[in-house]
Amino acid sequence: MHRGSVLDRAGQYSIIDCDECGFVHIDPLPTPEQLDEIYSGEYYSEEKPEFIDNVIKDIEWWTTVFDSRYDYFESRLPALSRSLLDVGCGPGYFLKRGVDRGWQVTGIEPSVQAADHAEKLGIEVINAFLDSSLRASFTKEDRSFDAVHLSEVLEHTRDPLSVLSQAYSLLNDGGIICCVVPNDYSPVQKVLVEKLGYSAYWLAPPHHINYFSFGSLAALMRKAGFEVVEQSAMFPIDFFLLMGENYVGNDKLGRDCHTKRKQLEIMLEAPELKSFKQELCGLMAAHGIGREMIIYGRKAT
Ligand SMILES: [Zn+2]
Repeated sequence: MHRGSVLDRAGQYSIIDCDECGFVHIDPLPTPEQLDEIYSGEYYSEEKPEFIDNVIKDIEWWTTVFDSRYDYFESRLPALSRSLLDVGCGPGYFLKRGVDRGWQVTGIEPSVQAADHAEKLGIEVINAFLDSSLRASFTKEDRSFDAVHLSEVLEHTRDPLSVLSQAYSLLNDGGIICCVVPNDYSPVQKVLVEKLGYSAYWLAPPHHINYFSFGSLAALMRKAGFEVVEQSAMFPIDFFLLMGENYVGNDKLGRDCHTKRKQLEIMLEAPELKSFKQELCGLMAAHGIGREMIIYGRKAT
């Protein structure tokens, strides 16, 4: 039974801090049929028409983002353990970077359009959701992986614990998972609401079903069996809102702010600044700051 204090309302949905689940989610939950229609259908052309073009435009910056994740995997895994499953791989650029770095990669992606795009990059993609039947078919083929990448997926699913559990069972012992989700009801957002009069602009039902904090995602990963081994954060783009640049609902300004953040982050990759950048991302995570959180988990040997 999903029950908990109501934090907000958005359209027909209540946003509840669910006692049963241990994280914030919308109520009622969308049906599996609704989600299948959203994600197998026209999600990328209707909801995110510029998403793939923007990834291509931003590829230099994305490469630094992807490399930091591969660097972490490679720092934790033996030299020959280089197989990766990307759950919700979208147009496939994370996997493409893996191939460039010598990884054996596989993607799972429910959107036909995005899966086709990834295939054109030469990536093996399964056009599906990660569920128990897909997990069973991997198990039957005796396929398992050294790393799982699960970026911008858990906020979209009805049952994130089940997705994490399927991922857990597909990992080899000692394998590493990288989970990335938006950081919502964060300290920055609280200040924006309380001091600057913002409404809960981050709510996006029914696309975003779940709203995680570092604490609630780490707890859910532990519930699925993972040991949480590292927490990091992506750039706090909402600092622009604190600076008075209100990009909410203003795509042009949003894009300008994004361009500045890309420039800053690429400059922080310089050898003189890179270790500072890494420490800063860890410090932000410790304070619940960052527009998205990155939490790494390990499957015990
Ligand atoms: Zn619940």
